[in-house]
Amino acid sequence: MRDFRQQFPFFASQAPSIYFDNAATTQKPQCVIDAIEHANIHQSANVHRSSYQLAASVTDAYESARDDVAQLINAPNTKQVFWSKGATESLNLLAHGLGELCRIEHALWQGDEIIILTSEHHANILPWQQLVSRLSPMKKLRVTPVSPDSKGNFDYTQLRDAISERTAIVAIAHVSNALGCIHPIAQITQWAHRHNALCIVDGTQAVAHIQVDVQALQCDAYVGSSHKMFGPTGVGFGYATHAILDALPPYQVGGEMIEYVSFDEVRYQSYPLKFEAGTPNISGVIGMGAAARFIKQQQTTIQSIEDELLEYLTQQLQSLPVITILGDNHNERVSLCSLLIAGVSHYDILRLLDDQHIAVRVGHHCAMPLMQHLHIDGTLRVSLCAYNTRAEIDVFMTSLHQAIMTLTASSEPAGINRISPQSRLHSDSDSHSQSESHVQTTLPLAQAFLGLTDYSASFRQIMLSAKECPILQETMRTPQYHVAGCEVDVWLANQNGQFAAFTTSKIIKGLLAILLEKANQLPVEERRQFDFAQYLATLGISHHLSQSRVDGLTVVIEQLSV
Ligand code: PMP
Repeated sequence: MRDFRQQFPFFASQAPSIYFDNAATTQKPQCVIDAIEHANIHQSANVHRSSYQLAASVTDAYESARDDVAQLINAPNTKQVFWSKGATESLNLLAHGLGELCRIEHALWQGDEIIILTSEHHANILPWQQLVSRLSPMKKLRVTPVSPDSKGNFDYTQLRDAISERTAIVAIAHVSNALGCIHPIAQITQWAHRHNALCIVDGTQAVAHIQVDVQALQCDAYVGSSHKMFGPTGVGFGYATHAILDALPPYQVGGEMIEYVSFDEVRYQSYPLKFEAGTPNISGVIGMGAAARFIKQQQTTIQSIEDELLEYLTQQLQSLPVITILGDNHNERVSLCSLLIAGVSHYDILRLLDDQHIAVRVGHHCAMPLMQHLHIDGTLRVSLCAYNTRAEIDVFMTSLHQAIMTLTASSEPAGINRISPQSRLHSDSDSHSQSESHVQTTLPLAQAFLGLTDYSASFRQIMLSAKECPILQETMRTPQYHVAGCEVDVWLANQNGQFAAFTTSKIIKGLLAILLEKANQLPVEERRQFDFAQYLATLGISHHLSQSRVDGLTVVIEQLSV
């Protein structure tokens, strides 16, 4: 285990001490970093254009990366692998091209329905939705989702029964980025093929964690992203059957994908080059090739470490009764747990874990329809990789436990600067320090921050302020008053000249309370001119905000200034 981790320089650097957000992006081993650096220093020429030695050797390196990826996924022929910017672009390319085949009533397209799972990543929903609307009203197509139960577990017989003669495409993730379950693709492909439907697989979360064999899966297309498989960002791949690759029109046109161009006639190259217009991300492709080789060499190690880590993490999480692991009935899972934690805002947990330099992800994980189906606003996702350790899980569990205790504690921890009736009456004349005099306030919430230099004291003060936030009534928590851009749901509205807000996050509620206290006290004209961001900075609260929180609060502030 240690040997595996030691190949990743990230862990020896100033990185956050615990990185549990591997489903968002993985770290790079030294061999991938070296390959990219070597490409940038020694392999800097364009590919497929010139025959001088340097260009030819770069083209060789670039094309041998295609062999590496083809071997990793066991593609029958290297030509069946095309490059893209990532899984998103590969899925868009496929959906766009298949839409064109539908338009011309090509034999590959039979039926009028695209079946997906409710849990798909937006990258495997939106291209199909766009296809349907692009071809409407000429073609009456539809996207049909198949949903899991309320705990995120799938009954695949529902998917089997949903596939019919009407089904043109089944587009499905190999591994769900929101639930961690491994879908039985070989089985699903058989169901699809029984009805002449195509099975397109989003393998983004699979490639780094489980063995992928597109021939065994029998799928019609398979896509992935380099940065989720130990490679660089901005590059990915797609695989498809010869029949699809041959029939699909190019996605983009331009240099290098043509055989002949005149003003009267254009002939395209054969695949894969017909899908690779323009100068590609050469060092990225070479880096992805190195990543593919790395995975192939380490596959057994990766799988055995991750299986053990998943078992250990699951056991530990199950010891906390407030935690539900979504989709945990699935026998086949990668080392990813999507959690619901009763009674606290996931966002607040993330914030407290972040203070301990533990990186996890909260939110909808680009799977909003799943969250709507489960009636939740998101989950806390812990996604592990083979370079993580049991010791890290132990630290994480202790911090998680502490965070839950802090957020659910009914009595306040000692040392809290309580907002007393007296402090509400304090005015600027009571302020002592120089910076305090910048805050022209008689406002109790703001007042309570004056003189707080200790990070945790001001954090606790924010939590206390939450109790003072003017609460927006439930009937007004509608899309109209929803604040876009915040990592957590926030609603804000002006009711009879006074702002009120609602969010489940105590931290955001506390910050809102401080902002609204000021906004509600100012005459309209002054409020429009008022610098709320500076106000928070002067109170010394800005350092509690991460970038995304700042973004969300920026929208709040814009709305206060209208
Ligand atoms: N599909 C899945 C299952 C994913 O997890 C992701 C990334 N989170 C994507 C598609 C999109 O990948 P990318 O952003 O690299 O194109």
